[in-house]
Amino acid sequence: MSQGKLEGGISGGVEELYREVILDHFKSPKNRGSIENANAVAEGMNPLCGDQLTLSAKIENDKIIDIKFEGHGCAISQSAASMLTQAVRGKNLTDVSELSRLFKNMFGIKEGNKNLDSKISEDDLGDLISLEGVKKYPVRVKCAVLSVNTLKEAINSYLKI
Ligand code: ZN
Repeated sequence: MSQGKLEGGISGGVEELYREVILDHFKSPKNRGSIENANAVAEGMNPLCGDQLTLSAKIENDKIIDIKFEGHGCAISQSAASMLTQAVRGKNLTDVSELSRLFKNMFGIKEGNKNLDSKISEDDLGDLISLEGVKKYPVRVKCAVLSVNTLKEAINSYLKI
């Protein structure tokens, strides 16, 4: 009985903290807006939840020098977009791809192998790590990965893939 109480206390505390980080990004999103001279743009939708997202980025020499998002939807999708734009700004495309892979791994989504040219680790996920608890709710995982999937499309538009 005391063990149950302890476990509840610990996980409750961590989840409380994460909820706060997520709500902070939802209420005061970072990098909200659109970039006028963007050369990487994509729109993403998650019809299951009604989430919508448009990402615009300025990429120079294969490095994201600026990135912003617009959209609407649930707290998970919008806060994830805010956290992602923070995490990838200033990073080159190899590191962005490795960061996206690590983020999706958090939810059990396997996407390719570790890129050995990249020094990106879990530490580089920044606030995105706070979304890890979403893996317990498979339907919401689509909300959490909407921005990272949209970013991939935006990068593909830049690379003309
Ligand atoms: Zn959603």
